[in-house]
Amino acid sequence: MAVNLTNYRQVLANITPYHARLVAVSKIKPVEDIQALYDAGQRIFGENYVQELADKAGRLPQDIEWHFIGHLQRNKVKYIAPFVSMIHSVDSVNLLQEINKQAARHNRVIHCLLQVFIATEETKFGLSEAEVYEVLEQAGALPNVRIAGLMGMASNTDDEERIRKEFRGLRALHNEVRARYFSGAESFRELSTGMSGDYKIALEEGSTLVRIGSLLFGARNYV
Ligand SMILES: *Cc1c(COP(=O)(O)O)cnc(C)c1O
Repeated sequence: MAVNLTNYRQVLANITPYHARLVAVSKIKPVEDIQALYDAGQRIFGENYVQELADKAGRLPQDIEWHFIGHLQRNKVKYIAPFVSMIHSVDSVNLLQEINKQAARHNRVIHCLLQVFIATEETKFGLSEAEVYEVLEQAGALPNVRIAGLMGMASNTDDEERIRKEFRGLRALHNEVRARYFSGAESFRELSTGMSGDYKIALEEGSTLVRIGSLLFGARNYV
């Protein structure tokens, strides 16, 4: 068990002036670690894998706000639809329609972020700018999802200026989408950017939700 409460408090101190919120990314980590951070006051946790999230949610306090941040397959939406608060990784109209359908079955509205491809690596998922607008054209007809903002992952690089440029580009798109589709409304306000290595840059470039794992829970040992 290795929750780093010093880092936790430091992250909170760093995000507070920006009025951003922390998503504690707990993928691969045991429920004991999540409980430890919960006991320190954290309520928003992010997970990447459907089965793992469903298992953990059943074993942890009910007032945790669960965010799904990993790549999501349509046929698995039904397992998290009863309880998930926000899905950060919407990357197609098909997926959004399925989330809407499953949310309706539970009389819920699930908050969704559109994941935008901003990095220069080919391995990352996400929509192009043109695809963002295509999804938005369809989204208005779906009453059980609310598009709450955009999510993006910057390139995995030491080049801070490149990271900053990628975050800045996403923020510009966010402003444009908000003006064109939401009349500047508050319901479209989230910019989910920033991980352990780049969250300070993300905050400077307008992040409202930082997704931080290894700084809080230690390195992940994939087996
Ligand atoms: C794992 C993950 C994170 C957290 O990464 P750290 O570098 O451990 O902070 C954030 N966002 C997404 C989408 C992830 O998959």
